[in-house]
Amino acid sequence: MNNEIRNTGSERRNLPDWLKRPLPAGHKFSHTQTVLSSLGIQTICTNANCPNRGECWDRGTATVLILGKTCTRGCKFCSVAKGKPQPPDPDEPAKLAQMTKQMNLKYLVITSVTRDDLPDGGASHYRDCINAVRKELPFVEFEILTPDFRHCQKPAIEILTDALPFVFAHNIETVPSFYPIARTGADYQLSLNLLKMAKEHYRTIQTKSSIMLGLGETDSEVKQVLYDLRNAGCDRITIGQYLKPSKDCLEVAEFVKPEKFEFWKQKAVEIGFKWVMSSPFTRSSYFAENKYTD
Ligand code: SF4
Repeated sequence: MNNEIRNTGSERRNLPDWLKRPLPAGHKFSHTQTVLSSLGIQTICTNANCPNRGECWDRGTATVLILGKTCTRGCKFCSVAKGKPQPPDPDEPAKLAQMTKQMNLKYLVITSVTRDDLPDGGASHYRDCINAVRKELPFVEFEILTPDFRHCQKPAIEILTDALPFVFAHNIETVPSFYPIARTGADYQLSLNLLKMAKEHYRTIQTKSSIMLGLGETDSEVKQVLYDLRNAGCDRITIGQYLKPSKDCLEVAEFVKPEKFEFWKQKAVEIGFKWVMSSPFTRSSYFAENKYTD
């Protein structure tokens, strides 16, 4: 399973069979769509052109995107718009509570754009969203997928203490050698540090991260990322295929075969992750509500 030669994949390729899937659009999909649009709630499912939207929305779940739909970064693997964002919407926490009620959610995944313009990186807005939902629906469990809080990791972690418990997720996204082209403005060590701080500060919670394959990374780089994440105390990992979400994003260098995802799953379990999801369509929030993975 070794693959040390980088595949630069400059040409566009047709999707292999294992990445072709029907577009489910059943009754529940329409309900999800109606609830979200009637409340004006953004999702990462739509803004990032997630290939699982049909399936997830038809299961009645979605990952909400708070703090607007304009990001202060502009990562080359992501289709979320970059620019100058609006101030946080003070009504957003109440809208999320409404949405959670109307969708009858028991597990809510909240993510956001990166807000380098806010002194706390948006941490207090995450806290307010969780607490507003919890006040109305105390049984709901939460997962937050946060940005790296580049300028404010310590205060952000402290602010979020007031919204415990939750699964704390922050995505490492790719191997460090791809940061300069894929995650400009981010720093590999800083992302590891955030996960480590969350684990040490919150103690009883689970932390989670995610890596995309198919940008041209080598096996030894992927393996090193898995070890680095475990050394940062990370409990959960998702591994999925990078798919170019918009025309300005990086090309796919390789369509990694399903067997290889199985290989990484075994490897992650061996390294000590307690919850592992690894398949071509795996994304950070894909089946996040599952208590266990096989
Ligand atoms: S995998 Fe996550 S982002 Fe993609 S559609 Fe499902 S809930 Fe949305």
